Amino acid sequence: MARITLDHIRHAYGPNPQSDKDYALREVDHEWNDGGAYALLGPSGCGKTTLLNIISGLLQPSHGRILFDGKDVTNLATQARNIAQVFQFPVIYDTMTVYDNLAFPLRNRGVSEPEVDRRVREILEMIDLTPMARRKAQGLTADQKQKISLGRGLVRSDVNAILFDEPLTVIDPHMKWVLRSQLKRLHKQFGFTMVYVTHDQTEALTFADKVVVMYEGEIVQIGTPAELFEKPSHTFVGYFIGSPGMNVLPAKLDGSRVTMGAESLTLDYAPKAASGAKTELGIRPEFIRLGREGMPVTISRVEDIGRQKIVRADFAGQPIAIVLTEDAEIPAEARVTFDPKAINIYADSWRVGREG
Ligand code: ATP
Repeated sequence: MARITLDHIRHAYGPNPQSDKDYALREVDHEWNDGGAYALLGPSGCGKTTLLNIISGLLQPSHGRILFDGKDVTNLATQARNIAQVFQFPVIYDTMTVYDNLAFPLRNRGVSEPEVDRRVREILEMIDLTPMARRKAQGLTADQKQKISLGRGLVRSDVNAILFDEPLTVIDPHMKWVLRSQLKRLHKQFGFTMVYVTHDQTEALTFADKVVVMYEGEIVQIGTPAELFEKPSHTFVGYFIGSPGMNVLPAKLDGSRVTMGAESLTLDYAPKAASGAKTELGIRPEFIRLGREGMPVTISRVEDIGRQKIVRADFAGQPIAIVLTEDAEIPAEARVTFDPKAINIYADSWRVGREG
């Protein structure tokens, strides 16, 4: 397995790119650890597949280099990069048996038959297809075929990385959960470097140790699920992760004092934002307390979502969401307090911490 270095990568599909908006990938400059499980998460069109294809070698970046364990592979073809790939739709040989489909990548590399047999049986168990081993792939369901594709991605232990592009799209919801958990377990057991593209936050948060959030051709944050939840680096991460997403309120800063409309609060530090920057306060709906003390709000709606309630309200002229437990009381003259530890301040959409 390998450490993956993305060295100042930019990519434009069209000729003569002039400005940032002509780039599908604007500037990606990161190092991903050997043995890490990374999920690339973001909305449609943000550049996830472009980045994955640059890592796999299906695409040459317009600028920058890609290195595996420090070795420049930018000009190497996919085959020469020694990676395994699993795509959104099954890529298998219909006329071969399930067993032979799984054995193929190993036999291709001259692995001995006893070792092929050991690995294939292990994978068959994992994808729950042992009883089907001798059946032709033809005639299997889309779901089963995709499990074979996943198995083929996992069968070799000598690859630099395994790349997954929304591999569970065709899998039914229960099996999705099972396979995701198995992938996670396999990752722990074998330490594969895995890169997994998805636009589904649950999938990303359950699969990965590090989630790479992309937005408009840029990586806006790489973090653990807890980091993305507690300290979103960019307001987009705040909106995109969580349900409902983070409340982002226009705010004026004056030292440690933050003013939103007619309301204000004081932080225990003074965030440093460049003068003229658009400043905002971010607070997740889970960290707003509703009671008889604090700043006034006008409640407009309460949605019951099982064990929780989502309160929609107007605060300082802005709509906000508040998450409460199902048995929480909602006072008539409601007021809110924000948990100070859960407040994030943003300048031009980027988080400014205590350190400025
Ligand atoms: P999705 O989740 O829909 O697959 P994505 O995050 O993977 O989206 P990309 O497919 O990488 O996004 O696309 C990034 C941008 O590049 C989009 O604006 C897309 O329209 C553009 N793009 C992608 N492939 C091509 C191509 N072959 N030619 C021109 N533009 C492309």
